Amino acid sequence: KITVGILALQGAFLEHKLHLQKAVRHASPGSLLDTTKFEIVEVRTPEQLAAADALVIPGGESTAISLIAERSGLLEPLRQFARVDRKPVWGTCAGLILLSDEASKARKGGQELIGGLHVRCQRNHFGRQTESFECDLALPFVGDDEPPFRAVFIRAPIVEKVLTGADLTADVANDVVRAPKLDAEADDYKTAPIEVISSLPSTQGKEAGDIVAVRQGNIFGTSFHPELTPDVRLHRWWLQECVLGRGESRI
Ligand code: GLN
Repeated sequence: KITVGILALQGAFLEHKLHLQKAVRHASPGSLLDTTKFEIVEVRTPEQLAAADALVIPGGESTAISLIAERSGLLEPLRQFARVDRKPVWGTCAGLILLSDEASKARKGGQELIGGLHVRCQRNHFGRQTESFECDLALPFVGDDEPPFRAVFIRAPIVEKVLTGADLTADVANDVVRAPKLDAEADDYKTAPIEVISSLPSTQGKEAGDIVAVRQGNIFGTSFHPELTPDVRLHRWWLQECVLGRGESRI
């Protein structure tokens, strides 16, 4: 069995769990996403994380998630999982912030990042809660004949910069937090290219071109909340990519 964990410390973990269950429920026996091959579990402890083959980090509040992760002794195991063991990880919204190597600081100060994606993420890029919006996004599985994928953005971050090795060794800017370097990573730092999976179309006065879905090796990040609409195609796509070993993910 493939155990897919959902980090269940805070935020929309239950919705992700239901989506993942739904994504595999209707798969035919013997197919790639055959239900019998998967176990979808909530992760709250290092032991549960160790039992997972892949992980989803939900949206919510990234400062709260990192604080609880620290208190639960999960922060280092999460770094190990994503950056050393390189198991497939997908972060949505707050999850994307946590998986970024750099992020703009939260208003009330520091927060710990898991890191792994060589990007700088800008928190709350579109403004406050009332600036939340929806739009249709181009994604790899949405063909011309398929219904559009409706994405929900709630105090969403964007990827504002793809970082180079030089960026990551330069001094960190005052208003930015950076994930710590890991010893285990030193000689084998991830060299997989950053793939932009989707950017914002021109919509509702928002600037077109902002990066809202990105993948680097085993790590996938999205700015929006795919678990808040009934559409499970992105969950299904990610599971398939993991099973197929795309983007260096190994299950
Ligand atoms: N702005 C939130 C944060 O900084 C993320 C919002 C979300 O996950 N919907 O964590």
